[in-house]
Amino acid sequence: MGSSVVEDLRSATKGAVIVPGDAGYDEARAVYNAMIDRRPAAVVKATSVQDVVAAVNAARDHGLDLAIRGGGHSVPGFGTCDAGVVIELSGMRGVTVDPAGRTARAQGGATWGDFNDATHAHGLATTGGIISTTGVAGLTLGGGIGYLARGHGLSCDNLVSAEVVTADGRRLVASDREHQDLFWALRGGGGNFGVVTSFEFRLHPVDQIYGGPMFFELGEARSILEWFREFIADAPEEFGGFPLWQIAPPLPFIPEERHGEPFIAFVACWAGPIDQGEAALRPLHDVAPVVAEHVGAMPYPALNSAFDGLVPPGLQHYWKANFVTELTDEAIEAHLEHGPRVPVVNSTMHLYPINGACQRVASDETAFAYRDANFATVIAGMWPDPEQNDANTAWVRDYYDATAPLSEEGGYVNFMAGDDQDRIRANYKGNYDRLVEVKTTYDPGNLFHLNQNIAPGP
Ligand SMILES: Cc1cc2nc3c(=O)[nH]c(=O)nc-3n(C[C@H](O)[C@H](O)[C@H](O)COP(=O)(O)OP(=O)(O)OC[C@H]3O[C@@H](n4cnc5c(N)ncnc54)[C@H](O)[C@@H]3O)c2cc1C
Repeated sequence: MGSSVVEDLRSATKGAVIVPGDAGYDEARAVYNAMIDRRPAAVVKATSVQDVVAAVNAARDHGLDLAIRGGGHSVPGFGTCDAGVVIELSGMRGVTVDPAGRTARAQGGATWGDFNDATHAHGLATTGGIISTTGVAGLTLGGGIGYLARGHGLSCDNLVSAEVVTADGRRLVASDREHQDLFWALRGGGGNFGVVTSFEFRLHPVDQIYGGPMFFELGEARSILEWFREFIADAPEEFGGFPLWQIAPPLPFIPEERHGEPFIAFVACWAGPIDQGEAALRPLHDVAPVVAEHVGAMPYPALNSAFDGLVPPGLQHYWKANFVTELTDEAIEAHLEHGPRVPVVNSTMHLYPINGACQRVASDETAFAYRDANFATVIAGMWPDPEQNDANTAWVRDYYDATAPLSEEGGYVNFMAGDDQDRIRANYKGNYDRLVEVKTTYDPGNLFHLNQNIAPGP
């Protein structure tokens, strides 16, 4: 990238344009997954929609790769690139709430922590991720699975409108009323269609929740998984939560002599009346004795940030994912074989329920196609030491190889690895061809290709 291009970009933007050799370059190019080590030609720290437009125009006009970084959590590292331009949105994290209208507007770089803090002040929330540092942008554009999904749908189901900078540098609003095709594609189709500079969400009255993590002996894992399969099929929709494998971290509520041992755990979130919380979780308590738990009433954002410490930035990540319609006995057997071998405290498998409100949206109503799936699994390898790369990637692959044949062909795009690009069509099932049409309309040159890419048509 020539120095005149950098100069033009600097004069067209208010935010900093950081290039190799500048102080802060290494910090600016780093993303959350420490396995990703890319060297962009320029990182544009956007502070406004105009900055975003300038960066899009520069990348397009000079034929440069363009990466968009919201929260930076993409496991394949789509928020950075080699030798191209990165639009970095952490300077655009504002969230404004309209409590009377029960909506909130988040800028493209906001995290779920930013969002929840703003909406919780009004006793309101919408479905977001389970970790507060994840970006609203990437998570929503891929779908958005979280504690509130059974009751209120995916994050993308709560999207009312989005402001988008498209590949030709235009600023569009996509909603039910304007650019409906783009609005359809943004709800599950990922970062393929433009830079979303603001998201408007519908909010729901969710203030305090009742829940938290519970640890059970590995010997109870079959009972927990079988119970979960039956219970969640018609559990009240206020009940969110999921089973997981978890090596006990050194937390005060876990007996010290058990720290470092693997458990089957469950994180529960009852988002109904608090005085019903204990009764709502009782069926789970009745399945097996609890070894340790940290359960009670708490503000919704407290649960949303409770596990941030287990996944600090700078870990190595390798993930695999599938949707599951029927959790068969054979599938549970495969989980029982591989889950307890989880190698490190950060690595895990989460089995998220996506029934309830998620299934009241038709498969072709938004780009997110798997509306008949009941679960989304993610086998998340996350580890601090690069020397553990082989052990963790092998654990993820073996676990995936055992469970994928017992699952749907597609998986949730936001949980998929960089080596999953050949599964993209399967992820969108019958919606794929329409996504190609929308892509061809809004980004015929595939400027936005650093994502789980939907290539435009000829
Ligand atoms: C620790 C952790 C916890 C997670 N928990 C959940 C969870 O509970 N539920 C869930 O559904 N997912 C979860 N995820 C997956 C998460 O949804 C994806 O990693 C998502 O892509 C992250 O979005 P981001 O904005 O943080 O990432 P980024 O790396 O910034 O971006 C991810 C993708 O979105 C695109 N993008 C980012 N910002 C914009 C924008 N403003 N406009 C257009 N495109 C954009 C990027 O180009 C890239 O392709 C988790 C991931 C991690 C690492």
